[in-house]
Amino acid sequence: MDSFDGNFNCEFETMNQLPEKLLSELCLQKGFDEAAFFQAHQHLPNTSIRLNPKKKIFSFESEEKISWCENGFYLKERPSFTYDPLFHAGCYYVQEASSMFLEFALRQSIDLSQSLKVLDLCAAPGGKSTLVASLLNENSMLVSNEVIKNRATILKENISKWGSENVLVTNNDPKHFERLENYFDVLVIDAPCSGSGLFRKEPAYLNEWNDNLVNLCSQRQQRILADIWKCLKPNGVLIYSTCSFSES
Ligand code: SAM
Repeated sequence: MDSFDGNFNCEFETMNQLPEKLLSELCLQKGFDEAAFFQAHQHLPNTSIRLNPKKKIFSFESEEKISWCENGFYLKERPSFTYDPLFHAGCYYVQEASSMFLEFALRQSIDLSQSLKVLDLCAAPGGKSTLVASLLNENSMLVSNEVIKNRATILKENISKWGSENVLVTNNDPKHFERLENYFDVLVIDAPCSGSGLFRKEPAYLNEWNDNLVNLCSQRQQRILADIWKCLKPNGVLIYSTCSFSES
C-alpha cells in the first residue's frame, strides 16, 4: 500500500496500541506488507529452541525443524524451561526463530570451514554468540562483547553453559577495539534499538517507544558502526541486525 489512511480494523490489544506514527511510516516503506504485519501482531511468536550440537539430547526430536537453522526447532507448546536441568546445562538455547536467521546469513556470505576471527559486538545475553560459536571450527575465535557490565556477566554465564573453548567474553565499548585495525573476518552487530520488533512479545516496549528514542538509537547505531568499521578486514563480512522497524 502507498499510504496509511489512519484506520485499523483490529480487535487485538497489541495491534490497537501500536504507535500511529510508526504505522504511518511503515506504510510508506517499499514492500511493507500491511496484512502480514497485522497478522503477525495477533499472536505471540512460536516458542523455539536451538540445540547445542556439542551436548546431544533427544528430547525435541519430534518437533518441527526451522528451515534456516540446522539445530533450530519450533515447539508445540512452551515448557517450563526453569525446571529443566538440560536447559541449565546449556543443552539448548531458547531463541526466536528469526534470530536464528543469522546462521543462513553467515552460510551465504562466508566459508565457515576456514579459521575465522569473529567479533559479536553487542552480544548479551548471548543468543547470537552461542549460535556463531556452534558454527565455527575449532581453529576459529569468537570475541563476544557486551558494553554493559551486568549484562556482560549474564553473557559470560551463558557462554560458559554453552561450553565453547574458543570464545572470549569481553566488556568493552566499541571504541576500545580501534587498535585492532583490519583484524576480524566477520563483525556481527546486533544493534541496540527502539524495540518495535518486540511489541508482540514485550508489550512494555510500547510505552517506551517515541520519536526521541528512535533518533537516539539511530545516532547510537551510527556511532557503533563508525567506531568498529576499521576492525573489519578488507573483504570481510559485516552482518548488521536490529529488531526495530524504523527506517532511520
Ligand atoms: N545479540 C544479543 C543476543 O542475540 O542475545 C542481543 C543484543 S541486544 C539487541 C543489543 C545489545 O547492545 C544489548 O546487550 C545492549 O546492552 C548493547 N548496547 C547498548 N548500548 C550499546 C553501545 N553503545 N555499544 C554497543 N553495545 C551496546
